[in-house]
Amino acid sequence: MNTSVHTAMPVAAAGQSIPVRAILPWAVFGLIISALLLYFVGAEQGATSLISGHAVHEFVHDGRHLLGFPCH
Ligand SMILES: [Zn+2]
Repeated sequence: MNTSVHTAMPVAAAGQSIPVRAILPWAVFGLIISALLLYFVGAEQGATSLISGHAVHEFVHDGRHLLGFPCH
């Protein structure tokens, strides 16, 4: 009978760290995407409008109310 233990969890190597220089571009990318998402949920086709019509507003409408942005 085989009694060896199998796990799906990777074994982390001790003493390994990720340098800030390697994370920085992804952090900036994440911030830009987050700001863009926040803009489209919170302000687009409300306070400001880059895209004409109401499609974006209707699509994010529940999220807008959930986050407490003024709407109607
Ligand atoms: Zn609304």
